Amino acid sequence: LLMAYDPARRLARLQVSLERAAVNARMIYEILDTMPHQRDRPDATEIKLGEATIELRDVRFAYGSGDEILKGVSFLAEGGKTTALVGPSGAGKSTIISLIPRFYDPKSGQILIDGQDIAGVTKQSLRNGLAYVSQQPYLFEGSIRDNIRYGRPEATDAEIEEAARLAYAHDFILAQPQGYDTPVGENGVTLSGGQRQRLSIARALVRNAPILLLDEATSALDTESEAAVQKALDRAMSGRTVIVIAHRLSTVVNADKIIVMKDGTVVEEGTHDELAQRPDGLYARLHNLQGSASDMTAEDAIL
Ligand code: ADP
Ligand code: MG
Repeated sequence: LLMAYDPARRLARLQVSLERAAVNARMIYEILDTMPHQRDRPDATEIKLGEATIELRDVRFAYGSGDEILKGVSFLAEGGKTTALVGPSGAGKSTIISLIPRFYDPKSGQILIDGQDIAGVTKQSLRNGLAYVSQQPYLFEGSIRDNIRYGRPEATDAEIEEAARLAYAHDFILAQPQGYDTPVGENGVTLSGGQRQRLSIARALVRNAPILLLDEATSALDTESEAAVQKALDRAMSGRTVIVIAHRLSTVVNADKIIVMKDGTVVEEGTHDELAQRPDGLYARLHNLQGSASDMTAEDAIL
């Protein structure tokens, strides 16, 4: 009886994990790849990336037939520089990030990369130029190596290890029971929040893409992890065009340009020094508040 039951149970378990895998694969596809049902224009061309300067021109957007979420957003994220998006929750920061890989298209206005309207390029070529690190690093069933390789399926083992070193992940990976072959995810070893984030940064680094979209984590890590994740991110950001949804004051202060958003519009932009000098500005208010409570996140302060 046991013999008869066991395979059935195993099959049931397999079924569940396959369904989960399908959902997970879709999430990753949304981040990295072209979903098959999303068609390119018949005349779509491959994007040509140089400096990878990103420009939003009067972008308006609503989810479906809902309220307008972006109400004419314009800004320039210069190639090789870091542009930080700050502002209260619900301002539209994540929505902006999701328009760049074209998970959604603007209702009007344009997004240009090196002067090319992304509406007219193939999604595959566009997404090949992008890497994304989300707030909630996602690990799926498989080994540590597989999880990094997801960033670029054709990456060699040497390239995966190089990315892991750059992300300050190599040492903790080697300390796992089977090194790079250690299973993670539901049935694998448990990694700390900081370790998961570094794997996710390694996954982005192995893509070696000129543009990095970064949704900075709000959840507090322990001080040691925080420092390791920050060093990994600094490496990932260097020499790339970065658009970061910034929650940490240090990221905001170090950004080449800060875009302050509120209710779907850009209310201020400039460097930290420029914005901090405008006494009545939203940013200055945020900055002053932060001065008196340094461990507050930008989002807490601005609310
Ligand atoms: P932020 O990242 O600045 O907190 P978001 O871009 O996430 O802001 O959200 C902006 C607005 O869009 C919010 O009112 C939010 O409720 C809405 N929104 C976000 N995602 C969706 C979605 N998938 N469908 C409908 N509304 C959404
Ligand atoms: Mg958000």
